[in-house]
Amino acid sequence: RDTLLEVKNLQMHFPVKTGVLQRVTGQVKAVDGVSFTVKKGKTIGIVGESGCGKSTMGRSIIRLYEPTGGEILYNGKDIAGLPEKQLHPLIRREIQMVFQDPNASLNPRKSLGSALAEPMKAHNLYGSRQKRVERIEELLDLVGLHRSVINNYPHEFSGGQRQRIGIARALVLNPELVIADEAVSALDVSVQAQIINLLEDLQEKLGLTYIFISHDLSVVRHISDRVGVMYLGKLVELSDKEALYEEPLHPYTQALLSAIPVIKKDGAEVRERIVLKGDLPSPSSPPPGCIFHTRCPYKMPMCETVVPDFREAAPGRQVACHLYGEPPF
Ligand code: SF4
Ligand code: MG
Repeated sequence: RDTLLEVKNLQMHFPVKTGVLQRVTGQVKAVDGVSFTVKKGKTIGIVGESGCGKSTMGRSIIRLYEPTGGEILYNGKDIAGLPEKQLHPLIRREIQMVFQDPNASLNPRKSLGSALAEPMKAHNLYGSRQKRVERIEELLDLVGLHRSVINNYPHEFSGGQRQRIGIARALVLNPELVIADEAVSALDVSVQAQIINLLEDLQEKLGLTYIFISHDLSVVRHISDRVGVMYLGKLVELSDKEALYEEPLHPYTQALLSAIPVIKKDGAEVRERIVLKGDLPSPSSPPPGCIFHTRCPYKMPMCETVVPDFREAAPGRQVACHLYGEPPF
């Protein structure tokens, strides 16, 4: 099988509690019916503004949360509803995450060596000190850090080095799937490029599959094969990268992309900047009908009441918008 991950109608709804009695008065649909597949060795980019549910989605797939609905088929096996005890140790090893702030996953009082040895011990792998040191040296080579830093502490590293460590830590147990959540967002642009190149090299060497989550469309463009755009807990567009960046279909994608200047050779800007009116609605009270209708420049009367299907608008392209009717093929 060449599909590693199939996410079907994934939902992550959180109760909203208010007052001194903490009564449940509503719910936040942080992730609300997201579906996509990722092929082995490929990268899907997930973009959207902060609060759109992309991080929650990533964390549900790694099962930091138990989703409230839907399926997560990993190599054909549904891991969405498995209780923690039944999350096979294999799955705990095979799916790893790289976070925005590598400091958050590094204990300041632990040397790099002991931080990297920790997951090996927890999973009873690389059973001797000698084997663990060999594995750590191998990892340091892979992520481009000098072997001599094995006894250094987190504060001794630069931001870029710390993210290399965050990646090494994600790779300790030889995962298949790596979920990177804003993995380069805290870094300078030049360092961002280095880390993205590193991730691409590692993908090629190790056959890794990535879910690359970011608010930054230009970062996602480099690394992704396919790109999904999220808004208020839903995917509004999903497409092969080239098609999405050349001809975005959903009005929200068009607006996001218009913020990235595309300059032609004669110096003219290719796209006109589309400035969205209004604020991002609260995820606890999303608009009825099309969730984007409060900000959409193309809103039609039906958009206020009728939820658009997430339908195929062209081969390999899905979009949730009434502007795209029956498929043209
Ligand atoms: Fe805009 Fe209507 Fe399409 Fe929603 S369905 S994105 S409101 S045109
Ligand atoms: Mg986030």
